[in-house]
Amino acid sequence: MKDCVFCKIASGELPSTKVYEDDDVIAILDINPATRGHTLVMPKVHYDNFLSTPREILTKVMIVAQRLGQIAMKQLHARGVNILTNCYPVAGQSVLHFHVHVIPRYDTTDGLQISMKDMSEEKLNLPTIAKEITKGM
Ligand code: AMP
Ligand code: ZN
Repeated sequence: MKDCVFCKIASGELPSTKVYEDDDVIAILDINPATRGHTLVMPKVHYDNFLSTPREILTKVMIVAQRLGQIAMKQLHARGVNILTNCYPVAGQSVLHFHVHVIPRYDTTDGLQISMKDMSEEKLNLPTIAKEITKGM
């Protein structure tokens, strides 16, 4: 897609620090890493995000993400890994070409913090929400 940074990286038009490549998938080091060895795995063909990516491509990307997570543990001596993908800007997606973050974790106080606000005070009705979701399955 025109003007997409990751399409340009996949085609070689823009430079990157590549750690893996096959016919469909590329993995690069994040230019602004949250931790040491933070990688991005993406399809070479443009899809906007996880939700709009065909299953067979999604599978290929996730298999590479799993491998990179295993390598982070073994080669980089990470003690954990976060596998993360953001869909749409409201969820923090800044590059609108599907990619999975593989973020090695060394300590709970390293470069990544994920916190979830407890919304139970707002009396969320779980059975009603479950009904809405299951209707769509
Ligand atoms: P997200 O906010 O989930 O869309 O993640 C986009 C990620 O892409 C961010 O972590 C950026 O640091 C990273 N990024 C943006 N441009 C480049 C680039 N040219 N090379 C490598 N990583 C990049
Ligand atoms: Zn793209």
